[in-house]
Amino acid sequence: MDFLPVSHFPYDNTVVARSPREISVKGVKINQPNLFSHMAVSYHNSSNLMRELSTFAFCALRGSSPLSRIVTHSLALICKNSGYLRLASVALPSLRPGQVLVNVRACGLCRTDLYAIEGRIRTWHRRFIPGHEFSGVVTEVGPKVSDIAEGMRVVVNPIIPCGLCPVCEADEAHLCPEFRQMGVDLNGAFCEQVIVSAEQLYPIPDSLSFEEAAFAEPIAAALGVMNAKIELDARGAVMGTSRIARLTWRVLKACGFSQVCLLDNRQAEQLEAPGFDFVVETDMSTEIFNQMVRLIRPGGRIVLKSRQYQSFEITLRQIIPFQPVIHVVNYGPFQSAVDLLTSMELEVSDLIGDRLSFDEFQSAIEHGQLDEQLKTFLIPGSL
Ligand SMILES: [Zn+2]
Ligand SMILES: [Zn+2]
Repeated sequence: MDFLPVSHFPYDNTVVARSPREISVKGVKINQPNLFSHMAVSYHNSSNLMRELSTFAFCALRGSSPLSRIVTHSLALICKNSGYLRLASVALPSLRPGQVLVNVRACGLCRTDLYAIEGRIRTWHRRFIPGHEFSGVVTEVGPKVSDIAEGMRVVVNPIIPCGLCPVCEADEAHLCPEFRQMGVDLNGAFCEQVIVSAEQLYPIPDSLSFEEAAFAEPIAAALGVMNAKIELDARGAVMGTSRIARLTWRVLKACGFSQVCLLDNRQAEQLEAPGFDFVVETDMSTEIFNQMVRLIRPGGRIVLKSRQYQSFEITLRQIIPFQPVIHVVNYGPFQSAVDLLTSMELEVSDLIGDRLSFDEFQSAIEHGQLDEQLKTFLIPGSL
């Protein structure tokens, strides 16, 4: 459902619409049924009171000043006390220069979200909105934003570089050591509407579904392997069978690696010292690390790609004979991830799992915890 802004409302203040016919501005009730006639349809079709209130609250007030805007509220999933989520209406402040409002159409659920929700990784506040793999439609453009228009389909880079460090100044913002991640270091996208910086937006073609586009973030994470600067003709393996392992393997193939295979743990155990030039992990543990050391040739590379919160053990005496080179990699460029998707060089549609509404968030979390093969999506606004 789209939220249509009211563009010529004669008051310069926040509107809270209580019903299609009763609107309160500065506490004074007024009747403007015509202004909200397009919303009346959704009001009568909806059964969820909270959703109705938030829907009606989306009215832009652009009366006396072109910059004045409303509103308002968005339905969001808030994590409060580890593991406990609830649906609530949250306020959206006016757009500041450089910001846009995005109507979220699909938000993927990944391990990082689960770690944050379960309280296994530290978040910016004990009460926060998770979600960082998302795409949607621009519904409002703030001042001083160029090249972005209302109605544009976009995927959003949830990784926000500091913009000040030497790495950022060297135009390699994807390697910024002081980045903040939406859904962890600031509020995320388990919302119907979210305010982001226009710089985070990447337009997507109609040929790409919102779910496919939301894969840009995990693809950018898989592209981090390229930071290890391994030769494309090197022989290597990606460890694991999860969707993250399969995605990483596909990304490496799409980037030109011709001799890389996907190995599950059992296959790896049965291999007699294959002497790989490199091995990439996607789910770290002490056992996996020792396995990786065994799989490489002396001096081979071990690429640590996963973002596990747990520690693991390295026994130096055990690994010294292999003299492994260990690379810990962060993100690759987000634009390259979007390019892989839009050029159709990378297929992700078969990695899309259940699409659940906000009402079903509890099942979505359970699916996310249980299913490592397919990505679960929350679809805001599909109640
Ligand atoms: Zn993710
Ligand atoms: Zn930086």
